[in-house]
Amino acid sequence: NPTAAPPAAGTMAAAVRKALSALGVDPDGLTGPHEARSPITGEVLARTAEHTEADVAEKVGAAHEAFLTWRDVPAPVRGNLVKRWGQLLTEHKAELALLVTAEAGKIESEALGEVQEMIDICDLAVGQSRQLFGRTLPSERPGHRLAETWHPLGVVGVISAFNFPVAVYAWNAALALVCGNAVVWKPAETAYLSAIGADALLARAVREVGAPEGVRQLLLADRVVGQAFVDDPRVALVSATGSVRMGREVAPRVASRFGRVLLELGGNNAAIVAPSADLDLALRGIVFSAAGTAGQRCTTLRRLIVHSSVADELVERIAAAYRTLTIGDPSAEGTLVGPLISRASFEAQQRALARAVEEGGEVVVGGGRVLVAEAPDAFYVEPAVVRMPGQAGVVQEETFAPILYVLTYERLEEAIALQNGVPQGLSSAIFTQDQAEAERFLSSAGSDCGIANVNIGTSGAEIGGAFGGEKETGGGRESGTDAWQAYMRRATNTVNYSGELPLAQGVKFL
Ligand code: NAD
Repeated sequence: NPTAAPPAAGTMAAAVRKALSALGVDPDGLTGPHEARSPITGEVLARTAEHTEADVAEKVGAAHEAFLTWRDVPAPVRGNLVKRWGQLLTEHKAELALLVTAEAGKIESEALGEVQEMIDICDLAVGQSRQLFGRTLPSERPGHRLAETWHPLGVVGVISAFNFPVAVYAWNAALALVCGNAVVWKPAETAYLSAIGADALLARAVREVGAPEGVRQLLLADRVVGQAFVDDPRVALVSATGSVRMGREVAPRVASRFGRVLLELGGNNAAIVAPSADLDLALRGIVFSAAGTAGQRCTTLRRLIVHSSVADELVERIAAAYRTLTIGDPSAEGTLVGPLISRASFEAQQRALARAVEEGGEVVVGGGRVLVAEAPDAFYVEPAVVRMPGQAGVVQEETFAPILYVLTYERLEEAIALQNGVPQGLSSAIFTQDQAEAERFLSSAGSDCGIANVNIGTSGAEIGGAFGGEKETGGGRESGTDAWQAYMRRATNTVNYSGELPLAQGVKFL
């Protein structure tokens, strides 16, 4: 593969300092025990605070205090805060994207795309601030009105993953804020600087529109302190994005205090390629979904289920396309595959490949580490394609790295059964020109995922379409047409203007 050597040590750190300053953060003011590292070189970019359990109590308390004022501000006026945040994000798109590249290793266009998603959700939330509507319905009793009203929940806690270090926060915060909540954000441990940058813009918007200062809080904390956060009874909703393992830890804790959760967990996404598929189009969709973001998206394509009549040709073409992908410095022009986030991630990738081979798989292309001499403390890998004899073992798991397992099928029913035959249920796709096949895939007997696409890959969501998945993916939905309801509680109101007191169901009493 062509490679792009990582920049000289210190280059990223200098660029990060400049971006932070532009976002209103004094880089010299950042101190503390936490080392913010870049997966591009492995170097330390800056040092930051690391919050403790005492900080959890203080920040949640301050957020709750702010909520008591914020909930009384009319929703369309609350919209002004998010409108201003969206404007600031638009002005500072490049600087925030640079932090995302430096910390998450995303290529420039994907990092810019991530900030664009924040801007898009702000637009949606601003409009939504005038549409937090409840329904009225006819009462069975004369002279009565039955209505529903929506109220904010209180403090919304957002836990985000490293791979969408800022967008996921905005998906939650933009709507939570217009709905009248205060927000406390616990970003991923590897993405504190991106969080500090995104939060600085929101803090500035808070000051400019005169919203209560405490309405946003940033909690720079690891998962141990994160547990104290999810246990705090004042956090009415915990919206958590990350691995299934995290969801298994967080969900029961929140349930034990009857709090609400919104879970966006791991995926193990598949695409079916039918005999009638436009292979040129399928090829591009597959390569972007499987190798893009170095396989580190929750919607990354991990399983390809190809009709046996086109499998050999398609796999050969994917392998050829993979060999042309430039791997390396994500800030360099032309790079398509950046680094893995960590050594642990690289080791998991190597273990998964070894297991796949043990389980009868044949590595068609890729899998090896590159740029070892140029970047000994960073982990760049060639995206891999592995043909598998079946779907047992390693194929059932989400390995957060660019490995695409290929399976073949004869009948569509078999392909759909394979597609659904894993514990996760996030994203899915079919490539076909046969309308009946596409409809079967989209029907209730088709894909069991939260996202089911036709003639497009599994990754790349748009604001407005509800995002999330079933089964071990956790069942949550974000950023869709009715996403705002997750951040509000519904009250049913019966109003009697009859002067009598008829009871429902004709009950007689007193
Ligand atoms: P992770 O589960 O290691 O961490 C995610 C976040 O949860 C981090 O902020 C972490 O500190 C926190 N956390 C972990 N355990 C916790 C606990 N017990 N209590 C409180 N907080 C805890 O995930 P990651 O490696 O950062 O991200 C990759 C994973 O995220 C993948 O599985 C990917 O599929 C998933 N993901 C899902 C979506 C989605 O929308 N479905 C989006 C992005 C990423």
